[in-house]
Amino acid sequence: MTGPLLTTDVLVIGGGLAGERCAIEAAAAGHEALILSLVPPRRSHSCAAQGGMQASLGNCAKAEGDNPTVHFLDTVRGSDWGADQEVANIFADEAPIAVRELAHFGVPWSRVKGGKNQYFIKGEHVEIDEALENDGLIGQRDFGGTAKWRACYAAAGTGHAALYAVDNEVVRLGITVRDRTEAVALIHDGGRCLGAVVRCLRTGKHFAVLAKATVIATGGYGRIYGQYTSNATINEGTGASIALDTGVVPMGNMEAVQFHPTTLSPSGILVTEGCRGDGGYLLDKNMHRFMVEKEPAKQELASRDVVSRHMQQTMRDGNGVDSPYGPHLWLDIRHLGEKHLRTKLLEVWDICRDFAGINPANALIPVRPTQHYSMGGIRVNKDGEAYGLAGLFAVGEAACWDMHGFNRLGGNSLAETLVSGRIVGRRVAEHAAGVTLRADTGIAFDAMKAAEDRAASWLARSGSGRNIYEIRDALGEVMMGKVGIFRTGDELNEAVTEIGQLLDDCDNAVLRCKDPGVNPELGFALRLKGMLRLAMTVAMGARARTESRGAHFRSDFPLRNDDEWLNRTLVRWAMDASEPSFSYEPTGIIDLPPGHRGYGSDERIEMQRSIGKYNETVVDEQTQHGRLPSSEAMGSRLKRGAWQAYSQ
Ligand SMILES: Cc1cc2nc3c(=O)[nH]c(=O)nc-3n(C[C@H](O)[C@H](O)[C@H](O)COP(=O)(O)OP(=O)(O)OC[C@H]3O[C@@H](n4cnc5c(N)ncnc54)[C@H](O)[C@@H]3O)c2cc1C
Repeated sequence: MTGPLLTTDVLVIGGGLAGERCAIEAAAAGHEALILSLVPPRRSHSCAAQGGMQASLGNCAKAEGDNPTVHFLDTVRGSDWGADQEVANIFADEAPIAVRELAHFGVPWSRVKGGKNQYFIKGEHVEIDEALENDGLIGQRDFGGTAKWRACYAAAGTGHAALYAVDNEVVRLGITVRDRTEAVALIHDGGRCLGAVVRCLRTGKHFAVLAKATVIATGGYGRIYGQYTSNATINEGTGASIALDTGVVPMGNMEAVQFHPTTLSPSGILVTEGCRGDGGYLLDKNMHRFMVEKEPAKQELASRDVVSRHMQQTMRDGNGVDSPYGPHLWLDIRHLGEKHLRTKLLEVWDICRDFAGINPANALIPVRPTQHYSMGGIRVNKDGEAYGLAGLFAVGEAACWDMHGFNRLGGNSLAETLVSGRIVGRRVAEHAAGVTLRADTGIAFDAMKAAEDRAASWLARSGSGRNIYEIRDALGEVMMGKVGIFRTGDELNEAVTEIGQLLDDCDNAVLRCKDPGVNPELGFALRLKGMLRLAMTVAMGARARTESRGAHFRSDFPLRNDDEWLNRTLVRWAMDASEPSFSYEPTGIIDLPPGHRGYGSDERIEMQRSIGKYNETVVDEQTQHGRLPSSEAMGSRLKRGAWQAYSQ
């Protein structure tokens, strides 16, 4: 018994900032757009973003001299040279437009106050005169790994403000949103994507949507780390896993997983980098500011991968604060004062009081690093078009576009959702205008029948198999324990074996609730195998990459190896294969040669090939790996050599 079949021009799977911004572009071009979301769009995870959105506006004294080229430099260094430099360029160029557009949509950005302002920089109180002519411009705060103050913010509720404003536009344009629905499979013929099979989370019934263009904007998959993540419970990676299920679409850089230095211990709720940007600092159990010695130049504002490693090492060395939930460190923002905390860091103030029962104006905040962001995702070209499947696009955290490489800078993700939402949305609109809807009902009904059978087989299963939530929790322990901040070959081998065992367990797991309708246990069971498969790609990718780059740190291979590993991991999982297969493509055309990031270790293995020789191979090799041609030639948006004026 198969469900109904709907059609639309553009199907957007995901109602967070990236999906909504993309849908706006398609709808504004006159296409019918349909957004699917697990939750009402305003509850998407984007709403949780706190500290800011990077754009080189140069509006305040400490932002003077900033421009897109400096932002590009910071982004590539932050990525530890893992980023596609052309994409980083496009991003940095368009971020100021995206921020100003949000102001137009109604985001109440915090503003520059002309005249004398009190700041804390590297632990010192500083008074800075902001130019009176800048009074009222969009304000900016400091964030990790940046040369200038660049993060635009709406107190510490930037994502909330942005998502509500963007969602208002979706409503204004009359875009149809079907919330409490979940895309459970892509409909495709191995070469072209035709749409998706969708499960209604209210009724458990399936339906199919056929579209000229399908966009995956489902966010990150942090929940494969179980409780050790700052991500919402809906960040289970279903978008990435349905793309992986096609067998033809590769994921990029799945081993590149970000750990955020400051999440509340033990709940894992994020405490924004804006706290350190505004002058907060980290203390060990002896009230010692360890980051000053570890990173004299950037201190607490080195990149997240670097700060997280120093914190983890400090705790391993026995200098963490003991607690019943394991060791933690302290974040001190007391000196910022209650007025600052209740205005510029309002949401942190609330979180500390509501979830830790402390007043951060007079108490230290217990923090420790936790999984936070998925740099890896569905590999796409610079137009957002997925490798290997025409008509399929991906955008936002679900995608590997890839401007973050092996470490995303704070504030660059919100900016990415809106910049790439605009760019990819435009390309999606062009694509939809150039093709006819392929209403291949045979393929659609087959895909829907397969999804229905999958749900029915879970309900029919009986016996003494494991509970799905036990499997989920075991996965979290394996991922944080063995595929975490520090990784070794031995632990990764164990992780691969253990995840393999969990996959077997999943095939035999049994549900307690057999209701086919509103049944969260069934809903989660249907996602679990995909989560385990994603986890396997992360663990195997990390095991194969025998170097350290950005957030991927191998204690047994501690150096960045630009000679052998200046590339992007691609992983596909062929239909019916027992494990995924890996290949590697060049990161993209290189303009800024690999060098020292300005923080972290300066030891690395140099590339022997010249940049010229490397660049000669990029177009052909990426094409061989499934990259579809982009609307403009590869490399055309690089501003070659512009960085030389700003690099010291
Ligand atoms: C606590 C926290 C704070 C952060 N703060 C910042 C910050 O200050 N600055 C910054 O730059 N970045 C920040 N980030 C990162 C940033 O918020 C996210 O990377 C970004 O918002 C992701 O947006 P998105 O649109 O890609 O995905 P999301 O906002 O996660 O949206 C995903 C959407 O997909 C839907 N969905 C998922 N699966 C399916 C499916 N199978 N079918 C249908 N719908 C589906 C969901 O319902 C949701 O609507 C923060 C992240 C966290 C966790």
